[in-house]
Amino acid sequence: MQRLTSKSKVVSNKEMTLKEKIYLPAIFGGMKITFSHFFKKPITIAYPEKKRKFSPVYRGRHVLKRDDEGRERCTACGLCALACPAEAITIVAAERNPGEENLYREEKYAEKYEINMLRCIFCGMCEEACPKEAVFLTDRLVFPEQLRKNFVYGKDKLVEIMEERIDVSQRQIKKYSTEK
Ligand code: SF4
Ligand code: SF4
Repeated sequence: MQRLTSKSKVVSNKEMTLKEKIYLPAIFGGMKITFSHFFKKPITIAYPEKKRKFSPVYRGRHVLKRDDEGRERCTACGLCALACPAEAITIVAAERNPGEENLYREEKYAEKYEINMLRCIFCGMCEEACPKEAVFLTDRLVFPEQLRKNFVYGKDKLVEIMEERIDVSQRQIKKYSTEK
């Protein structure tokens, strides 16, 4: 018979010994294991008071970048949505109107840009596909939510705030880049 694991035990209905019947050795054995953990360094942390240092290549919540003049970089070409293996991105394109040159860098922009964070697998393909360096994954976490609909992030949550710009350069540096 082929065994799937070396830890499996054959179940038997044999009569318990006196030692097994009084349970005390088993209880003390369990307590010994419990007490031994009191003197070990804990592997858990008291989140959110303490936070782990993330890997420099961590890919978290997305940002839709603005250029240095504060204009949205995205031109609604749809390549990120096309590249997304999870079909998590929804885009509706619109044409820039005269007088909106200070809002949108290109003549076409994303009127609606949504990412479903429950579908997203944080693979970074959208970032790779973007020809305008508009969408990036950041080192930020997706916020916990009670309702599924709140995980669909629109432009209100995705577009970069100029006063709180997000540095996405860390993962791009050669040391961590997968590009040769
Ligand atoms: S990170 Fe991957 S799964 Fe998530 S939106 Fe981008 S391409 Fe789709
Ligand atoms: S984020 Fe980039 S790839 Fe996606 S629609 Fe905008 S410009 Fe195109």
